[in-house]
Amino acid sequence: MHPTPSNRHLRVVVLGAGMSGILCGIKLREAGYTNVSIYEKASRPGGTWRENTYPGLTCDVPSHAYTYSFEPNPDWSHQLPPGAEVQDYFERTVKKYKVDELIRFDQEVTRCEFVDGRWHLETKNGLRDEADVVIAATGVLHHPRYPDIPGLKTFEGSLLHSARWDHSVALDGKRIGIVGNGSTGVQLVSALARRASKLKHFQRTAQWIMPVENPAFTEAQKQALRDDPALLKRMQNDETYMANVERFTTAVANAESPEMAAIEAIVRENLERSVQDPVLREQLRPNYRAACKRLIFSPDYYQAIQHPNAALVTDGIETITPNGVLTRDGKLHELDVIVLASGFHADRFMRPMQVIGRHGKSLNDAWAKRPNAYLAVAIPQFPNFFMLNGPTSPVGNFSLIDVAENQWGYIAQLLEPLSSGECREITVTQAALDEYEQARLAAAKNTIFGSGCNSWYLDAEGVPATWPWNYERFRNAMKAPKLDAFEMRK
Ligand code: NAP
Repeated sequence: MHPTPSNRHLRVVVLGAGMSGILCGIKLREAGYTNVSIYEKASRPGGTWRENTYPGLTCDVPSHAYTYSFEPNPDWSHQLPPGAEVQDYFERTVKKYKVDELIRFDQEVTRCEFVDGRWHLETKNGLRDEADVVIAATGVLHHPRYPDIPGLKTFEGSLLHSARWDHSVALDGKRIGIVGNGSTGVQLVSALARRASKLKHFQRTAQWIMPVENPAFTEAQKQALRDDPALLKRMQNDETYMANVERFTTAVANAESPEMAAIEAIVRENLERSVQDPVLREQLRPNYRAACKRLIFSPDYYQAIQHPNAALVTDGIETITPNGVLTRDGKLHELDVIVLASGFHADRFMRPMQVIGRHGKSLNDAWAKRPNAYLAVAIPQFPNFFMLNGPTSPVGNFSLIDVAENQWGYIAQLLEPLSSGECREITVTQAALDEYEQARLAAAKNTIFGSGCNSWYLDAEGVPATWPWNYERFRNAMKAPKLDAFEMRK
């Protein structure tokens, strides 16, 4: 996109300075938009990587694929980098591209209303602003879900949610209980099994585990990447990784595909090979299909749970008491620390912010049945309002940075008629959303996510809430907007 004089005048507000918001800031500037602000509720950028600091936090997507396409990083320490290193990458990128000049920190937008052709914004601190365009880059997993276990508040030890870590809580030599075995709970167990005097892992539903290696990059490897940009680019666009993404998304989209059978064979073999005790092996064996829940990629969970300090608890939790966790078999597991790795409210997106579109239409009303958006990007009655990683976006075991970059490419094209003055408002039509949703819901039923398990991928009606086709289809859909899906107003 070429900067035009009006790019300077179009006022664009981005919500959130996480991975997608930083991307927007960089790309808007590059395209010549100078009247841009990014509102961020916290005092630092980084989104999910700023919020999550639990022990063992690791990016389970290969590091060189988990980078902006325009900002490769020769210095990744590992194939799967620690969370703090990912946060550092985003903070460095913000500084390098001077995105911090655009960010208004500690400003949580609470209301965003479309009045007389402009978005009127209000923050918690009472700041007011107006914009022609709003781009919500507010992320998905940022409202911690606390389990409805009786007695939670009575616990007299330390109670932590994985996304609200308190680093002053001592862990070494302590009796630690971890509730939940999603990607987070499993990483916590791997990190803490050796440090705890006793670690109890409370598992409600078993998980399939994909084996993965996590080698460190040697100094010589890193130097070679620093010295040779072409090599670094090849590393970033690794063909094996991309082939895996296509294979994985093809498998997800068609639960009966040979690609899915191959994934199932790998995780089954991993369980058989890695867990010696037949009783424990059966406790760890899920009764649903692989990848129905987000696949856990772990190099060491099975070793960690077989560590002498660790124990898997599969009896349901009855209640939490002042001293620990009481399970339904009547056993009290005495603990010093309880960690809730119980996930997030994945259906909130930018809410609780009040978003009011044309004719007073609220986002809560638009999403009363389920959060949705045309191609995950735009909502009818919400002119000039776009989303990155919004509802029905692709999610799974691949880089959401690449997802956001593809979506940005699409949104950038929707901004063109606004910046050129061809129109003042661009809004997706209800007919376009209805057609998309009908096809999406039909396809969603054939995905592995809908094959009979519970997960955050499902909406309140149990329908997979994600992109139900393969990644190639997503990339193609993001290449260019079909303008007849949009209504343009002068
Ligand atoms: P999650 O996948 O939603 O898992 C929540 C866990 O808590 C489940 O095991 C669930 O059990 C359990 N749980 C919830 N309520 C419970 C209750 N009342 N009693 C007992 N157990 C309960 O959450 P997450 O592990 O935080 O992961 C969320 C997402 O974050 C991941 O899927 C992934 O997208 C992202 N993530 C990514 C990385 C990465 O490396 N890229 C790392 C961590 C997280 P049930 O299965 O029985 O419901």
